[in-house]
Amino acid sequence: MNLVLMGLPGAGKGTQAERIVEKYNIPHISTGDMFRAAMKEGTELGLKAKSFMDQGQLVPDEVTIGIVRERLEKEDCKNGFLLDGFPRTVPQADALEQILEDLGRKIDYVINVKVDQSILMERLTGRRICKDCGATYHLVFNPPSEEGKCDKCGGELYQRADDNEETVGNRLEVNVKQSKPLLDFYKSKGYLQNIDGQQPIGNVFNDIDKLLGGRV
Ligand SMILES: [Zn+2]
Repeated sequence: MNLVLMGLPGAGKGTQAERIVEKYNIPHISTGDMFRAAMKEGTELGLKAKSFMDQGQLVPDEVTIGIVRERLEKEDCKNGFLLDGFPRTVPQADALEQILEDLGRKIDYVINVKVDQSILMERLTGRRICKDCGATYHLVFNPPSEEGKCDKCGGELYQRADDNEETVGNRLEVNVKQSKPLLDFYKSKGYLQNIDGQQPIGNVFNDIDKLLGGRV
């Protein structure tokens, strides 16, 4: 089962990734983990990536793609993998097609956990934190019993600057713009499967499970 997982920030991709890898017994390969592992192992590409990062530069595609190739060649990917955070661009997706072709494999599905932007805004801007004890709340999912006040210590609740509408809105816009060509690419290849991410978490997974079922 060779899978790519996509979804905007706040869509609940991480939770679904955990459930997929547990049920289908495939490794969850996120870009960050892959880089960290390659650097730790001190592979040639890992060291190259590190030298770019140490200088505060973006890791060039050829290095990233090389690291992905080495990761997918590992024994634990024999029965499949769940890629998360890669590819991010169409050139990277093209490179992934080439890697898989070389390995005699192909993508089964690109799972896109889809949630309306307005709902993502609500999810991502609703967090409130207690000034005194650091307890976290969410206006919709875990509201305090008294507005603006911490249940535990009575402290004042505030919103982190990163969680304000403008910052979150910009982050979503950037992500939408970036993922559009990639979604189109995978749609044209026939891999793309949109999953309704606006349902309860368990139902989202059931839909994914139904899609993947019988392909183990
Ligand atoms: Zn508190």
